[in-house]
Amino acid sequence: MIEADYLIVGAGAMGMAFADALLTETDATIAIVDRYGSPGGHWTRAYPHVRLHQPSAFYGVNSKPLGRNTKDTRGGNAGLFELASGSEVVAYFDQVMNQQFLPTGRVHYFPMCEYAEGGAIVSLASGERHEVTGKKIVDATYSQVTVPSMRPPAYDVADDVRCVPPNALNTIDETPSGYVVIGAGKTGIDACLWLLDAGVDPKDIAWILPRDPWILDRAKIQPGPDFFDSTVGGFALQMEASALATSIDDLFERLEATGQLLRLDDTVRPTTYRCSTVSIAELEELRRIDNVVRLGRVRSISADEIVLENGSIPTGPEVLHIDCTADGLARRPAVPVFEGDRITLQNIRVCQPTFSAGLTGHVEASYTDDTQKNELCTPVPYPNSDVDWLRITLGNAVNTARWRSDPELSAWLAGSRLDVNSSFAGRGEPSPALLQILGKLGENAAGAITNLQKLLAEVDAE
Ligand SMILES: Cc1cc2nc3c(=O)[nH]c(=O)nc-3n(C[C@H](O)[C@H](O)[C@H](O)COP(=O)(O)OP(=O)(O)OC[C@H]3O[C@@H](n4cnc5c(N)ncnc54)[C@H](O)[C@@H]3O)c2cc1C
Repeated sequence: MIEADYLIVGAGAMGMAFADALLTETDATIAIVDRYGSPGGHWTRAYPHVRLHQPSAFYGVNSKPLGRNTKDTRGGNAGLFELASGSEVVAYFDQVMNQQFLPTGRVHYFPMCEYAEGGAIVSLASGERHEVTGKKIVDATYSQVTVPSMRPPAYDVADDVRCVPPNALNTIDETPSGYVVIGAGKTGIDACLWLLDAGVDPKDIAWILPRDPWILDRAKIQPGPDFFDSTVGGFALQMEASALATSIDDLFERLEATGQLLRLDDTVRPTTYRCSTVSIAELEELRRIDNVVRLGRVRSISADEIVLENGSIPTGPEVLHIDCTADGLARRPAVPVFEGDRITLQNIRVCQPTFSAGLTGHVEASYTDDTQKNELCTPVPYPNSDVDWLRITLGNAVNTARWRSDPELSAWLAGSRLDVNSSFAGRGEPSPALLQILGKLGENAAGAITNLQKLLAEVDAE
């Protein structure tokens, strides 16, 4: 029987970042339970060529840097800050657990254990049951990340069809006659880039894109003084576009015109936004694939045909189909983060889960009133449709304004490696062009909130 101040369910990136803040800022004892054998959550199940798609510099737990803060010199990310590989992320969380958390003597870690509501924890390996209670329960499983290796595809696949998750790509032992990549998200993009990098002729790749995504230019989310103009200037341009747009179409035109959002094909208007990022070099690579199939979602694959929502295309028994359709980060309804003795971790800055969990840990350590804590930690759910770009930008802007109005919180943010903005300290003078944009930022940020609310009200009324 173990009693801790906090029982954290989930040793994924969010559970770890939250625990780190509590260990750094309080004397609390913590029990961490996870059904996987090592910390890191979905990263332990990811395909071998997975990488972060935002720089390592502001990912992980607050107290320990990830990577060496260097810029890549080769490949699609050349010139931009390093992106940890999946195995680096897993090794990093293993070090955080074994070299930082456990030596404090304040953490009990229960790997390979399933948590059931009510407090019972059962070892999946031995069946042993532990009684572990926490004065507060922290749900670090709410994001329900799903990667392709965790489940079968949601469409029918005949027995004689070669259809694999991307995990199987680097153990191919027989060269396929062609490849079909299924999925428009980051995983599908990664699979296409991996194939091209491996020297596969673009003509041998078909890419099934049920919906075209708006994609972020990774150069616009970089840390450090060198990137102040592109990152902070980019944010200022997003606020300007949000403040001035007369319609949703006009907003996306403005965002695209200033390079804030990219699309795969200039002739196809994207309808989704999932926070995927590419570099311009990677976008050019992806554009080498001409056989892009826009016939909706796959319904079934047989030995000679792929049936989609709006048509069908031929395939063959020697073709390798790569299933990249798992939802990854599903859009889940926002629930209050703090509810008495229960804490439900969610993004409070969108697509920044470790920043969100670290800041939530700091708020838990520093404030007592649930109403105030929930105001500071208002969830911003993951986006799905293009219109969700407006919702998340609005949510981020409102939360940021609240944090900035609190001097203690502003000081914490300025010292947090998980906040990309903290990396701009000590920068040189902004360029004259940027100074002009930044001069209007305060005014535009307020205007953006009002205008985004108006545009969203129009959509919701339709
Ligand atoms: C391909 C890919 C690339 C990404 N790149 C980035 C990036 O560059 N930057 C970024 O900020 N984000 C990125 N993300 C987002 C990423 O999902 C988050 O960074 C983060 O890893 C999510 O962590 P989590 O703790 O919320 O969820 P998870 O990783 O899913 O962890 C949840 C944990 O809870 C455990 N669990 C669930 N239910 C139970 C139960 N009943 N009992 C016990 N244990 C349970 C699971 O075993 C799991 O370990 C990426 C996501 C994907 C899929």
